[in-house]
Amino acid sequence: MEINRRHFLKLSGAVAATSLIKEDKSARAAKLPEISPDAYGCLVDTTECVGCRKCEQACNDRHGLAKPDESFEEMTVLESERRPDETSYTVVNKYYPENIGALIRRNRPSFVKFQCMHCNDPSCVSACIVGALTKQPDGPVTYDAAKCIGCRYCMVACPFQIPGYEYSNPLTPQVRKCTFCFNYVKDGGLPACAQVCPREVMTFGRQLDLLKLARKKMKDNPGKYVDHIYGECEVGGTSWLYLASQPFENIGFPKLGKEAPPRLTEAIQHGLFQYFAAPVGLFAVLGSTMWFSNFYKKDTENNTSGKGDKS
Ligand code: SF4
Ligand code: SF4
Ligand code: SF4
Repeated sequence: MEINRRHFLKLSGAVAATSLIKEDKSARAAKLPEISPDAYGCLVDTTECVGCRKCEQACNDRHGLAKPDESFEEMTVLESERRPDETSYTVVNKYYPENIGALIRRNRPSFVKFQCMHCNDPSCVSACIVGALTKQPDGPVTYDAAKCIGCRYCMVACPFQIPGYEYSNPLTPQVRKCTFCFNYVKDGGLPACAQVCPREVMTFGRQLDLLKLARKKMKDNPGKYVDHIYGECEVGGTSWLYLASQPFENIGFPKLGKEAPPRLTEAIQHGLFQYFAAPVGLFAVLGSTMWFSNFYKKDTENNTSGKGDKS
């Protein structure tokens, strides 16, 4: 097991003991759901990413996903914004800072790796009426193809537009998304993407320790990061956390509130299911997830003026 930025599990006790940053400074302190001490996550420092796409390749290799039309060495794909899909559990995008001159703009892109955020209170899990998606106690949101009926409500519900669907597989189509390399991580291994990254962009470890590490990085490197750990609060928190040098809405992240939208949609949706409501009705209900995201986005903007990512 490696002891470096990739793998933070063994360092976690030391970090906790030093109490580098007082926990009461945490934006989580008052309102957000508690995080289990056993829950692990990944901290992505986007300022270190060089866009090499090795993480994409390692993920595809580990999970036996289809080879892309263009090789992983092809860097021109970074010029178009992509989303994860059924053949790519993770993608890297390139973003240029806004509001600065064209010359600098060319020289200072941010590279951002996206995948399932493994939400603490996942909308996809709540939306699934047959229990095919499960939030594991130690963090990953896993998928059981044997239970899935292909309704794709999870895709509608996800605030990050993550799950893909095998439309090209008419006989046994599955929902596909990042697994958090669950089968490897539970045996002490690393996510393939974190393992291969030459820049150690991703730090794997306990979620609570990663939050402390993120705050320490911000404190130790003034001016390097915007004052925002993406995933600390968004939709109730996510197992994957991000640091960045520019506002997150400039680098492909949706602006979301602190509340996890699933609870209301879950209650209404399961009630409708009980009375055999038409699927169109269920889709309408699940659409409320996105409505709530927008609602809380406004709420967050109002509540966090003066702090956050200064955007
Ligand atoms: S392997 Fe690391 S440096 Fe390369 S694109 Fe992925 S996250 Fe960025
Ligand atoms: S990012 Fe989307 S697919 Fe992943 S756990 Fe959250 S709601 Fe589910
Ligand atoms: S955690 Fe595993 S499944 Fe998820 S993006 Fe990384 S390598 Fe792919």
